[in-house]
Amino acid sequence: MVSPDHPDKYRVLEDAFGFSTFRSRQEEIVDAVLSGRNVLAVMPTGAGKSLCFQLPALVKGGLSIVVSPLIALMDDQVAALKLSGQKAEAIHSGKSREENVEIWRRVTRGEVSLLYMSPERLMTPRMQAALTKFSLGLIAVDEAHCISQWGHSFRAEYLMLGALREAFPGVPIIALTATADRSTRDDISEKLFGGDVSVFVSGFDRPNISITVADKTRAGAEIERFVKSRGGQSGIVYRISRKKVEDTAAALSAAGIRALAYHAGMPPADRAANQEAFLAEPGIVMVATVAFGMGIDKSDVRFVVHGDVPSSLEAYYQEIGRAGRDGEPADAYMLYGLEDVRTRRRFIDEADCEPERRRVDALRLDALIGFCEATSCRRVALLAYFGESSQACGNCDICLDPPALADGRDVARLAIDLVRTTGERYGAAYIVSLLTGETNDMVLSRGHDSLPLFAAGSSRKKAEWRSILRQLVAARALHAETGAFGSLMLGEKAEAVLSGNQEFLIRLPSPGKSRRSKRGSA
Ligand code: ADP
Ligand code: ZN
Repeated sequence: MVSPDHPDKYRVLEDAFGFSTFRSRQEEIVDAVLSGRNVLAVMPTGAGKSLCFQLPALVKGGLSIVVSPLIALMDDQVAALKLSGQKAEAIHSGKSREENVEIWRRVTRGEVSLLYMSPERLMTPRMQAALTKFSLGLIAVDEAHCISQWGHSFRAEYLMLGALREAFPGVPIIALTATADRSTRDDISEKLFGGDVSVFVSGFDRPNISITVADKTRAGAEIERFVKSRGGQSGIVYRISRKKVEDTAAALSAAGIRALAYHAGMPPADRAANQEAFLAEPGIVMVATVAFGMGIDKSDVRFVVHGDVPSSLEAYYQEIGRAGRDGEPADAYMLYGLEDVRTRRRFIDEADCEPERRRVDALRLDALIGFCEATSCRRVALLAYFGESSQACGNCDICLDPPALADGRDVARLAIDLVRTTGERYGAAYIVSLLTGETNDMVLSRGHDSLPLFAAGSSRKKAEWRSILRQLVAARALHAETGAFGSLMLGEKAEAVLSGNQEFLIRLPSPGKSRRSKRGSA
């Protein structure tokens, strides 16, 4: 794609913002908007979203509109912009009629370049008629995830913004959000842009955090060994239950480590005292449930240990993100055991919630397992989950110590063939039953026990086949459908694997032997 050059952007970057270079993908986004394209920019908080619409608005000159859901957010942004000498204003219901009229006068005199307002105000016929007198530079939609019913912050007024494209033809729309989940992104793209939008995801990488996933055999001993190897550093150890938090904190203390506990079942005073100590003193290890961490701002946390598998990759990303905020090297160390996966599945199965919610949670757990089972760079897998592409990092257990891989063509072909001959309509558990030759009621009632491939994989255990199927999904040789049954289907790489010309490397599990069992003490 040709991206026309906009030389003014560098001048504005220096003069209006005082920065000498763009960060991550800011420049690409600015270029796209300046070329008149619609953009969805997904970046975590603090990554520099504001510049992505403020700078093109200034380069284009004239009036641009910023849609924001909350009066407080509008006022904050306008105040910050005014401080840095920019001509920003907000019109909203928190101001008197006179104030709003006065601001509008300034707008008509060309004295405002960024005008903030709510979606419902922008979408009134009156406002739209008034705005036709201007040639708008762009329309920025901040907190764009509010348009998605998937998220927690859905706002019905945001749905009106679907009419924006037709109301202001030819004006580029840039939507911004920190919410990176794919379903939310797809939703924004569809509702706001009818699918016609360039999506940019960036800024999620935290390269100073080293990532390790290790086999879990005896969690207590493994946690203790890891924490001791980081002697005297501040860190957080997450455990799945209050009881495990207490047991682990006691065991670490007994081993001479300054460990404190934190969970929602403790007396509030004790909890607060422990949190206070962790923030104020160096070298404390906080053993906690996920109740700990929201809003904790401590820059020198050197490690985050997950003694149990977290609930999702979003949660994992958030939790490890509490390490190394100062930019210095830090560790994310997770223990991964099949028992945990079973516990997580049970949580989902037993949760009192809508079937749709259960289905999405199950898919999220699958993505997390895929990350734990990864055969190539974990950071690439983690960032890919958020939609950001990257190169092998050299700072995760797999980059530093690649696992032994074997040619998995035969097992892959067997699994893919079976998925195909049964019509691509069964989930992984059922395919595993067929591979291992299990004669349960479902198999018998469908007559699948007479398939030529029935029991063709019986030399391997169910757990091994599950791992193989997960790797095939991760390698896109199979595709796990997102519908109600999670059916396995052929993936885009299936033909390449079936044709068998290329080696297809997978980690072939060898039961009884713990993979990379010595890692983590490094
Ligand atoms: P977000 O809206 O994504 O949470 P902000 O736009 O508030 O993030 O930016 C976060 C911080 O990064 C701000 O202090 C901003 O000044 C700074 N920043 C943004 N872009 C750049 C850049 N290109 N160079 C240096 N600092 C930047
Ligand atoms: Zn890596």
